Amino acid sequence: MTNQNQTETNKFEQFDVAIVGAGINGAVASAALSAAGLKVLLVDRGDFAGFTSQESSNLVWGGIKYLQSYEFWLVFKLCLARNRLMRAYPNRIRQIGFLASLGPTAPFGRLLGTFGTLFYWGIGLFGTKPPLSYSARSAKRLEPNLITGRKAVKYFDAELPDNDSRFVFDFVKQAMKQGAQARNYTELVGAEFDGEWTLRLQSLSGESHVIAKTVINSAGPFASDVTSMLNSPTKASLVFSKGVHFVLNRKLTSKYQVLAFWDEQGRLFYVLPMGDRSMVGTTDTRVDHPVTEVTDEDVEFVLRQINAQMELAEPITKDQIVSARCGVRPLVIESAGDGNIADWHQLSRKHVVEGDKDRKVVTILGGKLTDCLNVGEELVGELNRFGLKVKVPGRWFGEGSQIRKDEFFALIRRLAKSDPQLIADGLWRRHGDEAFEIVGDSELDDIVPGLGITEQEIRYIAINERVQKREDLLRRRLPISMARSDAELRANQPLQKLLVELGL
Ligand SMILES: Cc1cc2nc3c(=O)[nH]c(=O)nc-3n(C[C@H](O)[C@H](O)[C@H](O)COP(=O)(O)OP(=O)(O)OC[C@H]3O[C@@H](n4cnc5c(N)ncnc54)[C@H](O)[C@@H]3O)c2cc1C
Repeated sequence: MTNQNQTETNKFEQFDVAIVGAGINGAVASAALSAAGLKVLLVDRGDFAGFTSQESSNLVWGGIKYLQSYEFWLVFKLCLARNRLMRAYPNRIRQIGFLASLGPTAPFGRLLGTFGTLFYWGIGLFGTKPPLSYSARSAKRLEPNLITGRKAVKYFDAELPDNDSRFVFDFVKQAMKQGAQARNYTELVGAEFDGEWTLRLQSLSGESHVIAKTVINSAGPFASDVTSMLNSPTKASLVFSKGVHFVLNRKLTSKYQVLAFWDEQGRLFYVLPMGDRSMVGTTDTRVDHPVTEVTDEDVEFVLRQINAQMELAEPITKDQIVSARCGVRPLVIESAGDGNIADWHQLSRKHVVEGDKDRKVVTILGGKLTDCLNVGEELVGELNRFGLKVKVPGRWFGEGSQIRKDEFFALIRRLAKSDPQLIADGLWRRHGDEAFEIVGDSELDDIVPGLGITEQEIRYIAINERVQKREDLLRRRLPISMARSDAELRANQPLQKLLVELGL
């Protein structure tokens, strides 16, 4: 490097690690590494969790379906990851029953189903409530929309009641509290390595440069674009499986539970809670590119499955769809991929971390929301091997103290004009102790009736949670535009007025 170049780079801000991509993998990396004492920069070219990590089924689960492909070790590890997350997030992650209706497309009957769910409970070290088995009559009594005459089994996993993207943002928030810089709408557009990295970043306000000792490539389905930019190829590669969900304008379950079915291809298919509505899906279609969209075939497929598996007074039609979620699962193939994957649906959901010590790059491929704490820890280990000064991370995940929860709920009972339980639950779950600050001592009302979201919370999030666009707030920090259609949102005058006032 010439002296002039050296003087130039000295002006750039310096980091121990720059993390490219703020989906779940980048977000946990930022939280774990900043807790390990490193100076961290996290960038995403869109919003935090604005790509794959906002399109999931919102489940924290051990993957019961992988038992069918005999991936016992993966299921065991995912169950442990699920149990650990459930313990760390007693409010943000909720245990939920999966009532699986055993129709003609189910791969087994009640006896094998009962055995399978018991085995799943055991492999998960009994970390959830025990499974249950139902006769056709008791299944129908439990969930009247199930098809008469079908037996059922119930097992337990967990879900993210506030959406996957909110969960991801919690890690970003934690990282920022620990001193990390997190920049959304900031893309890595160029990189030069000279013992350390000079990175060229493009944000909404223009181009800038930073210096980083190491780079973590957590660009999810775009990981190979970033490996090319960094000239740091990986042994493993990715293939993509598209998955679509639809939120309906009605609730298909009579109580808080997931309904599980097997679709016409023999894949598990769900009815999941989404606020006061239901989300149905998903699909599993091989695609070549990460950017996908919902097609007419997707709509027809999902509606056909759900109408075939439920006994509804009126069938579900296209006009009942409130919103859609569509993303690709980044699936790892460890050998040189020739695309001839024998059984597409059996492809493993594991993740792979590859370190390139010479060029100081770590790439993370694949994975699940459920496995996020392990990913964070593996990345700390990897940077340790690179010789960075990495401390044993302090507490970098989990909810804050629950000591004032009762006090907070009592306060909301006094302040809320409607739905005190819903409002208190939501505020405490999303913000913990900070909820006191959000609420102050003003009267509270549900600005999106049925969701328990108040004007005070929207204001707080818009100002404090790096919201740049309307969608960041309505789609990702809160699940409003998932559970409400565009027309419903347009008709909500108080909300529209507030958004305009907030400049969104
Ligand atoms: C339909 C579906 C259902 C799923 N259900 C579940 C589930 O229920 N439970 C579960 O545990 N997992 C589930 N998953 C898996 C899980 O959602 C994904 O594995 C996970 O979200 C991937 O996260 P990621 O951080 O690797 O990628 P992403 O979330 O895609 O993040 C990568 C980020 O990198 C950014 N980026 C790319 N290039 C650049 C660049 N040059 N500069 C800056 N930023 C860049 C992108 O904008 C993006 O935000 C599901 C996935 C799908 C698709």
